[in-house]
Amino acid sequence: MEIKQALINASNNLKQNNIENPIQKSKILLSSIMKVKKEYLIIHDKDELEENILNEYQKGILELISGKPLQYITNNQEFMKMNFYVDERVLIPRQDTEILVEEAIKECKLNAEKKYKILDLCTGSGAIGISLAKIIKKSEVLCVDISNDALEVAKKNAIQNEVKNIKFCKSDLFSNINEKFDIIVSNPPYIKEEVIKNLDKEVQNEPEIALNGGKDGLRYYKEIIKVAHKFLNKNGKIFLEIGYDQKNDVIELLKNNSVYKNIECIKDLYGNDRVIKTM
Ligand code: GLN
Repeated sequence: MEIKQALINASNNLKQNNIENPIQKSKILLSSIMKVKKEYLIIHDKDELEENILNEYQKGILELISGKPLQYITNNQEFMKMNFYVDERVLIPRQDTEILVEEAIKECKLNAEKKYKILDLCTGSGAIGISLAKIIKKSEVLCVDISNDALEVAKKNAIQNEVKNIKFCKSDLFSNINEKFDIIVSNPPYIKEEVIKNLDKEVQNEPEIALNGGKDGLRYYKEIIKVAHKFLNKNGKIFLEIGYDQKNDVIELLKNNSVYKNIECIKDLYGNDRVIKTM
């Protein structure tokens, strides 16, 4: 079968099964299997596909129809213009999270001479910590997660992105941490438990441990806010990603503890409240 026909069949099949962005997904999947850029498919659209490629493509299309996220099939998600390996062991990094990284970068640029010590709590794939380590070359980053599976993926991503100023540690939030940092960043699980079952099929294929923020979605913010200030150096800053409707709740948690000052909320590109900055 020619490339062009395979793409048409695949995107029709995805569309009939109500999969969003069928054309884009069918192109990304085929180019990933063929290990070529998407443009190659257009230039070579009359080429015959080898049998094994076609079989793998059809298998991937069926996986997409079953609700498996494209990124778990291609094992890739771009984040901060870097490529991250992802599979079922970790949350797929979201574009919205780039705003958290950008805010932390702004902070580090205030003093170009300083060797910032950065902590990434609930690192998952390592997307936040690794991109900070890559961009802020002078920094020293510690990425922690409670999940050994996630830490394996994060370490693989540090190697893939050639980042060396980084360390990893298994820790339930701060439980195994005994040093102080200039910057603490976190995108903790923040979805309300009862909402998870109503999310898209694709999201339900992501690790529940990376989504579930307890009954009120605030479980990890409460735990982080209780002690985070003790792990900050003088003038240190905290950056937390939040859900679009969690601004007031998280600000209230911070205000209940009088040590947190200069609380700010930063919106994402869609205009949703996305990051809380403090200290
Ligand atoms: N820190 C990772 C990310 O933002 C994982 C977050 C999580 O698992 N909740 O992509």
